[in-house]
This record gives sequence, structure tokens and C-alpha cells, in this order.
Amino acid sequence: KEITLGIDIGGTNTVFGAVDLEGKCYFEGRIRTQDFKSFTEFVAELRFAIDKHIGTLDFSHQILGIGVGAPNGNFYTGSLDLAPNLPWKGKVEVAKEFKAQFDLPVWVTNDAKAAAIGEMMYGAAKGMRDFLVITLGTGLGSGFVVNGNLIYGHDGFAGEFGHVIVSHDGRECGCGRHGCLETYASATGIKRTVYKQLADSLKPSSLRSVSFDLLSADMISKAAEAGDEVAIQAFEYTGQILGSKLADVVHIFSPEAIILFGGLAKAGELILAPVKHHMELNLLPIFRNKVKVLPSGIHGSNAAVLGAAALAWKELGFSVK
Ligand code: BGC
Ligand code: ZN
Repeated sequence: KEITLGIDIGGTNTVFGAVDLEGKCYFEGRIRTQDFKSFTEFVAELRFAIDKHIGTLDFSHQILGIGVGAPNGNFYTGSLDLAPNLPWKGKVEVAKEFKAQFDLPVWVTNDAKAAAIGEMMYGAAKGMRDFLVITLGTGLGSGFVVNGNLIYGHDGFAGEFGHVIVSHDGRECGCGRHGCLETYASATGIKRTVYKQLADSLKPSSLRSVSFDLLSADMISKAAEAGDEVAIQAFEYTGQILGSKLADVVHIFSPEAIILFGGLAKAGELILAPVKHHMELNLLPIFRNKVKVLPSGIHGSNAAVLGAAALAWKELGFSVK
């Protein structure tokens, strides 16, 4: 059986899987990104973790190549440069380091672009020609597909929607500036919102006793479901900021759908509903009630892992479906 490896490097976790040409994923594993001060050590550990999973496969297989999605990852150069939420500073030669460790052909792209490829091939965007995927994790990433093509831009960095400024003098961002969208709308952004609300008011909340490091988007969802007002307010505020910025994007690209993926998107309607509501409020009449806001259409595996693997299949010369 021939497979490719799909790897999704995230600010918090790195997820990997082995995927066949039909998009079937044979295993999925993860390591913690922040545990590695050096990229070389990170890739060595990834190799170790992947080998362990490969050892459990009960069929003979051949790995043909590797696709990597990474924050700030660049398809043209195979590197990433100055990623705000990764422990490695400056330029990282992702493709070269993976090649040195695995001795296989490697292709790199942005993590959110990988998720967009995954959704396009196997998920919520099947058959669509104009859509965007927004990943809400440690940061906010985006993959824009226009006329059936993923937009890379002249330098390959197109789609840095997470660093659009929504508030001058706003929250400090990992990119060194202030007020970027991802400091509000991401798994980390909503945590910051909860913290700010707890500091600014005396409202009782089950989240009050949780330290910032332990707080997660998942805990905020559970609290909101249980009626916690601070948590419910935090979703509303996040949805307001993201929804109104998405209206701007709809005006520019006229997508058929916007797909939300990643840690915070797992909250489902809690985040989808306020995003839709505030997007609609800010749309020009010609766009109203037309643009779908959808959750990831891939269940049981990860859209970015499947997309990264599909990128490798495609670059190896196979036609993926
Ligand atoms: C980076 C993007 C990335 C996103 C999600 C942002 O901070 O600038 O390149 O896609 O985080 O990881
Ligand atoms: Zn920023």
C-alpha cells in the first residue's frame, strides 16, 4: 500500500497521519510543538513518533512523500519565516530538515492552506470553486480559494488574515504589532477575552479559578453550555469581531462558503451562530443571506493533515480524485 505522510504543525500541537490516495487516514498521532527549542530536535522526535505508529500498521506499505502545513509555511521556498506562535525564531528550512531526517520528497505549505486543500478534496468545500477556510487555533490562519485555485500570492504568503488589524492600540500580537484579528479571534484570543472579562467584573464564573495556562477553548465551551455568563459573553464578543471582519472579506472575494476549523471551531454553534449573525449585520445587501458559514466537513481525522498529504500526492504527480 502506498501512502504519504501529512503533517500539521500548530502553535500548540503537531498532528501527523499516514494517508492513501483516496484520503483514508491510517493513523493519527501528535506531539507538543512547544516542547522543542530546536527545529532539528523537533523533527527527530516527530520521526520517532511516526515510526512507532508505522510499526502498528498491519499491512506492508511504502511512504512516497511528505506534505507539511506550518504557520507561515511557504510553498515556494519550502521554509517558514518569523512565525508568530512557534518556538523557533527567524527562518526555518522546513523541507530541508524533513528531507535530512526522512530521506523522502517533502512539500511545505501554510497550515491553513493545507486545511483548505483538505476541505476542498474531502470535506465541506467539495465541489466549491470559491470559499475560504479559517483556522481558529493558537493563531488565526486562512486559506482563500478563488476560481478553484488556492491563492499563494507573489511571495507565497497570501492570506495572513490573522494579522489584519481590528483595533489600533489593541492587544499585543506575537507578530510584534498590536490589535491583530488573531489576538481576539482564535483559541488564545477567546481565552484572553475571558480573562479580561473576569478582571473587569465581579460576575461569578466557573472559569475564575482556572489559570490562564490551563484554560482551553473547550473549557470555555463547556462553561457556556452550562450557562456561564462570562463564557457566553466571550463567544458573542469573539463572534462579533470575527463576523464583522468576514463581512469585509465577503465584499472582496464573494465566497460561496466560509469554513471554520481548529480548536475554537469545535465549539460548533456557540461560535458559528454569533459569527454568522455579525457577518450578516455588516454585509452589503447584495451579499445578504447567501454566504454559508460551515464547520469542517471532515470527521474522524484532521483537515490539515489530509490536505498536507494530498499536497504531497499531487506534487508526486498523482491525480487526487
Ligand atoms: C500565522 C499564519 C498561520 C496561523 C495559524 C498565524 O499567526 O501568521 O501563517 O496560518 O497563525 O497557525
Ligand atoms: Zn499579528
